[in-house]
Amino acid sequence: MNKDRKLLIAGNWKMNKTVAEALDLVNGLKRELASVKEVDIVVCPPFTALESVSRAILDSNLRLGAQNMSEHNVGPYTGEIAAVMLKEFSVRYVILGHSERRQHQKETDDLIARKAAAAHAAALKPIICVGETLAERETNRTEQVLETQLRGSLAGLTREQMEETIIAYEPVWAIGTGRNATAEQAQAAHAFIRGLLARMFDAATARQVRIQYGGSVKPNNARELMEQPDVDGALVGGASLEVRSFSEIIKNSI
Ligand code: PEP
Repeated sequence: MNKDRKLLIAGNWKMNKTVAEALDLVNGLKRELASVKEVDIVVCPPFTALESVSRAILDSNLRLGAQNMSEHNVGPYTGEIAAVMLKEFSVRYVILGHSERRQHQKETDDLIARKAAAAHAAALKPIICVGETLAERETNRTEQVLETQLRGSLAGLTREQMEETIIAYEPVWAIGTGRNATAEQAQAAHAFIRGLLARMFDAATARQVRIQYGGSVKPNNARELMEQPDVDGALVGGASLEVRSFSEIIKNSI
C-alpha cells in the first residue's frame, strides 16, 4: 500500500490478559509478524503486564503502548500512573481519552489535553481517541462532535507536538459491536479531521499526522479500511487479543 504516512496498527488489550496470557500473546505475535516492516505495530497491555511484555519484545519489531496515564508527574494521586513510570518500561505510546474512559471515568477534553501535554513532556506519543455516538451520527452532529473533541483535547499543543500525536477516530457505535464504519464513512470522518487539523495547525502538519480508525476492525475488513487515503492505521480492541486475528489484520493491511 503506497502512502506517505506509515501505517500504525495498535492493539488495545483493555482489561484483559494476566502476565502469563500476555506473554503467550506477544510471543505468538513476535513469531507471526517478525518480517513485517511496512507497519508500525504497537501492543497496549494493561499496566500489570507492561514490564514482562517490555522484556519479551526487546528484540522485536513490536512497540509498547499504555492505555492511560496521569496528567500529573508525581504525588498524592492514589491509583494513578505517571508518564515517567511508563518510560521505565520503554513505553512509547499512550492511549488517551478512549471512549470507555470518557464514559466510565468521565474524562473530559480538558483533562485529555493536560494528559497529552504531560505525555509530550515525557516524549511519549499520545494516541488521542475521538468519536461520535450513534445518536450524534443519526442527528448529523458527527463533525460538530469531532471538532469539539479535537479542539478541546489538542488545546495547547505545538505544531511539533501535533506531528508526534496520533488521532484515533473511533465511532462509539462501532466499538466492540461488530458493526464497523464503512470505508466511506471512515474516509469522510478522517478527511474532516485532517482538514480541521490544517485549520488548527497548518496543512503541512495535518499531512504528517497519522489518523487511525478504530471500531470492530477485523481481518476481513482491515484492507478496505486501510486503503482509504486518510486512514493511516487502526486501533484494534477485541481482535487484538488473539495472535491469529491481530496478525491477519496487519498482514491484510500491507
Ligand atoms: C477499541 O476499544 O479501541 C476498539 C476499537 O475496540 P473493538 O476493536 O473491539 O471494536
